[in-house]
Amino acid sequence: MGFRLANIGGRAALTAGKAYFDLEGASGGELGPDPMAALSDPARLSAIAAALDESQATGPLAGAVLGPPVPRPSKVFGVGLNYRTHALEAGHPIPDNPLVFTKFPSCLVGPTADVEMRSGHCDYEVELVVVIGPGGRDIAAADAWNHVAGLTAGQDISDRALQFESDPPQFSLGKSYDTFGPTGPVLVSPDTLDDPNDLRLSTHINGEIRQDDTTANMIFTVAELVAYLSGVATLATGDLIFTGTPHGVGGPQGQYLADGDVISTSIEGIGDMTNRCVMAGGA
Ligand code: ZN
Repeated sequence: MGFRLANIGGRAALTAGKAYFDLEGASGGELGPDPMAALSDPARLSAIAAALDESQATGPLAGAVLGPPVPRPSKVFGVGLNYRTHALEAGHPIPDNPLVFTKFPSCLVGPTADVEMRSGHCDYEVELVVVIGPGGRDIAAADAWNHVAGLTAGQDISDRALQFESDPPQFSLGKSYDTFGPTGPVLVSPDTLDDPNDLRLSTHINGEIRQDDTTANMIFTVAELVAYLSGVATLATGDLIFTGTPHGVGGPQGQYLADGDVISTSIEGIGDMTNRCVMAGGA
């Protein structure tokens, strides 16, 4: 059931077990190599994935360099304070409505890319990322999952110095430095998961656990976020929604990311990312 879709060398690929299958080849040329083009028809991807023949694998996943599964979305939404415990640690009341900002798509990188920091106040935030399949406007919450092509893992990297240097603070720029959106390792269709509304997610920094929660503790669910956002903007195929982070981010503890730190991100049923931090431009 379902499919796991990766970006390997800029080409869409389905993964199965330890192998990957270039999508253009696996579809007999019906689908091109563009990872964006594959997302509008999740049912077609599931059918192709179900028919994969292991002897026809393009290559082993081990050693393949993965890019962001959705490299060029038209929109990337972020949701702030969407877990009760994170709202509390950040010193905010539980929100009555979603707090929404944007991450500009140019921040997206793959699951093993370096995170390039410009200050000593950068922070990690593990997040479940929703990928829109068939787009739409005014989508009802009850119909929302029919518009979701899949889920992937993300880090909503934030430069807290830039985020809070204005008053009131602004989120979008401080979360949009190039490389501040690691995503991956693959996009999985929701039907591959036992319960897409209850996924364990965690962040380790240099092997030390910092965040560990489940998406079941989100304040606004995936379906509610799709409904809310689509009531404002038409959602397009490939649009991303970073759904917020649980407690344990570094800022409130004064534990910012340092040059050479390794961020390990994991979401149950989706996979793991490993991103190294590098200080760029001094500081
Ligand atoms: Zn976030």
